[in-house]
Amino acid sequence: MNHRRHRIATIPGDGIGHEVIEAGQEVLEAAARKFGFSLNWTEFDWSCDRFQNTGQMMPEDGIDLVREYDAIYLGAVGWPTVPDHVSLWGLLIPLRRELDLYANVRPVKLFEGVKCPLADRKPEDIDFVVVRENVEGEYSKIGGRLYEGTPQEAANQVAMFTRHGTDRIMEVAFDLAKRRRKHVTSATKSNGIVHTMPFWDERFKAATARHAGVETAAYHIDILAAHFVLHPDWFDVVVASNLFGDILSDLGPAVAGSIGIAPSANLNPARKTPSMFEPVHGSAPDIAGKGIANPAAAIWAGAMMLEHLGETQAAEAVINAMATTLAQNETRTADLGGTEDTRQSVAAVLAAL
Ligand code: ATP
Ligand code: MG
Repeated sequence: MNHRRHRIATIPGDGIGHEVIEAGQEVLEAAARKFGFSLNWTEFDWSCDRFQNTGQMMPEDGIDLVREYDAIYLGAVGWPTVPDHVSLWGLLIPLRRELDLYANVRPVKLFEGVKCPLADRKPEDIDFVVVRENVEGEYSKIGGRLYEGTPQEAANQVAMFTRHGTDRIMEVAFDLAKRRRKHVTSATKSNGIVHTMPFWDERFKAATARHAGVETAAYHIDILAAHFVLHPDWFDVVVASNLFGDILSDLGPAVAGSIGIAPSANLNPARKTPSMFEPVHGSAPDIAGKGIANPAAAIWAGAMMLEHLGETQAAEAVINAMATTLAQNETRTADLGGTEDTRQSVAAVLAAL
């Protein structure tokens, strides 16, 4: 039998990025030993530190350097000494765009032991995934200013939805739903936005016709946001455009009390380029270097990476081990009201694994 090997590019980035990526690697290594595959890591020092020394977040040929890997495991990028737009446009956005990581997937799950801001919600009530279109839609550079500096001054911005881009994000959502509870909800606004959103609705209908056996629903974004709070149990997979998905993928984890432990996967589902997995949280300068960062988001992101690499059993085992440590007061980190530091938390996950 062939021994399975996966080559991973790690970009720890800044601040607690280093601490949580190291923690995540330790857990993923243990899972690899247990389930009989190996992970080969190559570290890249792309960060604000690098920017301060060289004037660049990553080298000129950076994208080509990581293109050869099976996946990218990223910590957190950003530091107070470098403006956010420099770190964002110097590293994260080029990675997402040039590697065509067109699907941003964020699971929303209420874990036992994590405080939910909604009253009387149990873990089985909140378990859904937001699938956001990550490279087109409302976030385009098309548009500009008219009559600048005059009383008639105006700005316009063109949202660009292509059939290619819309159809492929629908495919990601329906494929995911087939592996879950077989339900997809579309976020639309075709009552107010009269060109792009009716087109989005049409493409959603076309996808529905291609995927018999998957139930669907569609809501305008305003009432959909309300339903996230009032009826989170209605959702399985939610598919949304770049802007609506951006909003829903922060609202979702907030509703599950998990904004501090949430992961994010930037996927090229066709696997033509390496997909990128990262915690949602930032570099946390206030606690960096103290060894107290919660490694849960990085571990959860690592589990999503294993799943993407086809190591489904290992991915499930890692999530279950993480859930076990979250459920027990004595193994939670300080941000969740516990007393453990990063090392102790990793030790607890390893023991559960
Ligand atoms: P971004 O870099 O995405 O803009 P941000 O600067 O808004 O993020 P974070 O760096 O995520 O925010 O930090 C916000 C707060 O959450 C800080 O007080 C930080 O210490 C805390 N925090 C973030 N991640 C963690 C973690 N893994 N464990 C414990 N606390 C965390
Ligand atoms: Mg920040």
